[in-house]
Amino acid sequence: MSKESFDPFKMAQRQFDAVAEKLGLDGPTKELLRWPDREYHFNIPIRMDDGTYKVFRGYRCQHNDSRGPCKGGIRFHPLETIDTVRALSMWMTWKTAVVDIPLGGGKGGVICDPHNLSMREQEAICRGWVRQMAGDVGPDRDIPAPDVMTTGQHMLWMLDELEKITGQKQPGFITGKPIGMGGSLGRTEATGYGTIYTLRESLIELGIDIKGTTMSVQGFGNVAQYAIELYTQYGGTVVCVSSWDHKEQKSFSFRKAAGISLDEMLAITNRFGEIDREKAKGLGYEVLGGDKWIEQETDILLPAALENQINAETALKINDSVRIIVEGANGPTTPEADEIIKEKNIWMIPDFLANAGGVTCSYFEQVQCNMNYFWTKEEVLGKLDEKMTHAYGSVSNLARSRNIYMRDAAYMIAISRVAEACKMRGWV
Ligand code: NAD
Repeated sequence: MSKESFDPFKMAQRQFDAVAEKLGLDGPTKELLRWPDREYHFNIPIRMDDGTYKVFRGYRCQHNDSRGPCKGGIRFHPLETIDTVRALSMWMTWKTAVVDIPLGGGKGGVICDPHNLSMREQEAICRGWVRQMAGDVGPDRDIPAPDVMTTGQHMLWMLDELEKITGQKQPGFITGKPIGMGGSLGRTEATGYGTIYTLRESLIELGIDIKGTTMSVQGFGNVAQYAIELYTQYGGTVVCVSSWDHKEQKSFSFRKAAGISLDEMLAITNRFGEIDREKAKGLGYEVLGGDKWIEQETDILLPAALENQINAETALKINDSVRIIVEGANGPTTPEADEIIKEKNIWMIPDFLANAGGVTCSYFEQVQCNMNYFWTKEEVLGKLDEKMTHAYGSVSNLARSRNIYMRDAAYMIAISRVAEACKMRGWV
């Protein structure tokens, strides 16, 4: 399936429809939950460094806020589409529900390529995004966060713009802020570490010692880097990582059978998570085609790049050695690939459970901002581990007791919670 023909929103709706059917949801509840409650499409005109003007397209989708204010990242990506934002906002609703935090689901994006934008131009886009959305976001309505190609700096510009508009300090409006500027310790690590907390629990259940295991990872950005850090601290070995090369417009995989060194790799990786091929070769890494990460003979696969990476075509290449797939990215696996994974009897830790560490820590950040009192990193990560372990346990218990696929079990828990909230509010 090519990038052009893949529609993540149709996939998110198909996943929802299948579970709604199993849960026996009534018609109005289904209709309500298969679309965002609200969506915003807008222009962001900015003056470029060369004095010309350029108009960027911005989006925000607020999928559902029955359990609390909407929550979700803002992506900067040249291939961003409204359907990607819709899908991601829906997955955020399920994500906040499955880890049982009092928030709903939202997502935003801007069609732009930060590789070709100066920091001043990116700041102008951030401020322009907030000017368009100022009336409909805020700590009690919708709380953005960083996502692909946006960082704490982008969040701080957005916060500053909202505070200028409202004339009030509102640190709880946005999360993922830099430390010392309202950010929470542990937020940078949270998503990657969260995936490994769930992986650790699954290995305990399967009776496998994490120490002897191997993993192959797609992507080498925020999620992948911290997942690799904790996994290797636990004694696991990462034998392959892959990353995008924006000059070549394709991805590459980097393999070292003895295990990659995180520090070595970080030293040759740019701020977009792109690994320098020539330097990697110099350090003894084998440089392979971008899709080779999935074919590796490992126990674990961690897709941590983009959606639609494990599809009907690539899933067939998964090595028979693979026991667990833990989804760091959002929507990396298509429903067709899920069928192949079920046949291969691979234990799946689905995206909105596995990568919920980020939003959980964002929730902690908001709580700390609202009370203006900040926890230590140990406290944050301890609470995160507890939340993720508990959520993993609930999903896995349901999957095992009903003999259902983990993704279906996670959906059943999340969708029932949201459907119940909508019912209790009298919406449907
Ligand atoms: P990032 O921008 O820091 O890193 C993305 C990485 O993927 C980079 O290393 C890039 O080179 C690589 N990449 C991009 N396209 C690729 C391709 N086709 N093949 C191989 N590698 C490719 O992004 P991130 O924050 O690490 O997010 C990664 C995924 O995790 C996304 O799906 C995101 O939505 C999801 N996610 C992120 C967070 C978070 O807190 N950062 C939370 C939840 C989910």
